Amino acid sequence: MQQQKIKQVIIAGGGSAGWITASLLNKVLGKVIEITLIESDQIGTVGVGEASIPPIQHLNGALGIRESEFIKATQATIKLGIEFENWREQNHKYMHAFGDIGKDFPFCEFYNFWLKAKQQGNATDFWDFSLNYQAAKQHKFTHLQHIPNTQLTGLNYAYHFDATLYGEFLKELAISRGVKRIEGKIAHVKQCTESGFVTALELSSGQIINGDLFIDCTGLSALLIEKTLNTGFEDWSHWLPCDSAIAVQTKSTADPVPYTRSIARDAGWQWQIPLQHRVGNGLVYSSRHLTDEQAKQQLLDNIAGEPITEPRVIRFKTGRRRKQWHKNVVAIGLSSGFLEPLESTSIHLIQTAVIRLIKLFAHNNIEQSLVDTFNQQSQTEIERIRDFIILHYKLTDRTDSAFWRQCKQMSIPKSLQTKIDLFKDTGKIIRQDDELFAEVAWQQVMIGQGLKAQDYNPLADALNDEQLAELFTNLKTLISTTVKQLPTHNEFLARIKSN
Ligand SMILES: Cc1cc2nc3c(=O)[nH]c(=O)nc-3n(C[C@H](O)[C@H](O)[C@H](O)COP(=O)(O)OP(=O)(O)OC[C@H]3O[C@@H](n4cnc5c(N)ncnc54)[C@H](O)[C@@H]3O)c2cc1C
Repeated sequence: MQQQKIKQVIIAGGGSAGWITASLLNKVLGKVIEITLIESDQIGTVGVGEASIPPIQHLNGALGIRESEFIKATQATIKLGIEFENWREQNHKYMHAFGDIGKDFPFCEFYNFWLKAKQQGNATDFWDFSLNYQAAKQHKFTHLQHIPNTQLTGLNYAYHFDATLYGEFLKELAISRGVKRIEGKIAHVKQCTESGFVTALELSSGQIINGDLFIDCTGLSALLIEKTLNTGFEDWSHWLPCDSAIAVQTKSTADPVPYTRSIARDAGWQWQIPLQHRVGNGLVYSSRHLTDEQAKQQLLDNIAGEPITEPRVIRFKTGRRRKQWHKNVVAIGLSSGFLEPLESTSIHLIQTAVIRLIKLFAHNNIEQSLVDTFNQQSQTEIERIRDFIILHYKLTDRTDSAFWRQCKQMSIPKSLQTKIDLFKDTGKIIRQDDELFAEVAWQQVMIGQGLKAQDYNPLADALNDEQLAELFTNLKTLISTTVKQLPTHNEFLARIKSN
């Protein structure tokens, strides 16, 4: 591996990935490296990516962005979970709500008590014990760390936001803190003939930008990591059959709800993401089962408000770059691979990739051990998320279209099959390798999609029938009383905007 002191960091691309990377690297390493970002107004950004998951609060926190500032600048709304409609079967709904459900006992999650009761004929719904779900459906929200006078966690939330406005906000922030921005199209990537390391980027204007470490944030074109270094791509489209999306923004027709809607259609699914000033809509679909024209019609037939943008098709391939870090190029964002937006994980993957890069930053030399560790961690992280997304497709009962029949019958990764079998046989879910989605997230999707566990953890027998009934009554009362007292989501947003 070439000896190289890393001082000049060049970020190629100024979408969400480029500006999140620039802001975070600058915040932590700004005193020891110099950061330049190149972006092309002519090429533009992918322009979607409006739903997030709760760790985005840490990203904003680390960047010193106040929540009220963020909500105002990006027209954000609150997201308490994702409601999945028609995924298991037509007219069936469930939610992947953030936050805890019920009350866990040591080594025995609440789910086991619920399952025990269910096996005894108690028909209580699992989501009756989710504060997030109940608040989401009643359009309520405020900051709530704990349910008052208890140890039970309060509301866990993320945001829906305008991705373009967020990009502009981060750009301003990063530039004000010392990141250098260059506008221009990268025409050539110069490499050292011996090592293959990238040495400079040449713009179509002829300007040459030299650097030590290059971060590829060029989106789906993957200009450095793939077009230059030919790193290779692991294709997962046999497990995740959607390869296209069509997006359109509409005027709002009602107050924004504090959750994302994901509605399964014949050959994919439709998203509905309510912001303060408009609604983001899109259809993610398989081009083998639906033409672009059919997809456009299906989307336009199923939106409530008047379109304010032209429907736009985006083509993608699901999978991961074989090496996210190769030589002196690190790929972050869409250039590093893509999982469809079903669980809103892409921006999160940008955030974790930058944190990983900071932890493993090659200040004095790009050691292979740093590169290997980075790549190994990136691979494990994305594979666990991949499995969680495949789960939604695999566990369908739908047989009403070729697309859903294919999903139901497809083979799945062994790691996912093991998880499904473990849950089916024992009701257990074991979170692996620091994976992003916790047990309660898997439980909701497994139950929501109709997977039945045959057994529950015998520790749940510690409560007799009477105690169990009392626990359920107390929890339900606590949750409904708490939700009743919360302000509405709209009142919350109005308060933020008036401050
Ligand atoms: C349909 C869809 C829906 C999505 N929804 C979500 C969601 O809800 N939540 C979520 O977290 N994520 C979502 N994502 C993913 C999210 O949009 C991306 O992860 C995020 O926007 C980051 O994109 P990027 O910055 O990697 O790429 P881009 O936004 O494409 O940016 C690429 C940048 O590189 C520049 N560039 C490219 N080539 C050159 C060149 N030759 N010279 C100079 N500059 C160049 C471009 O100008 C641009 O600035 C979604 C993605 C898709 C496709």
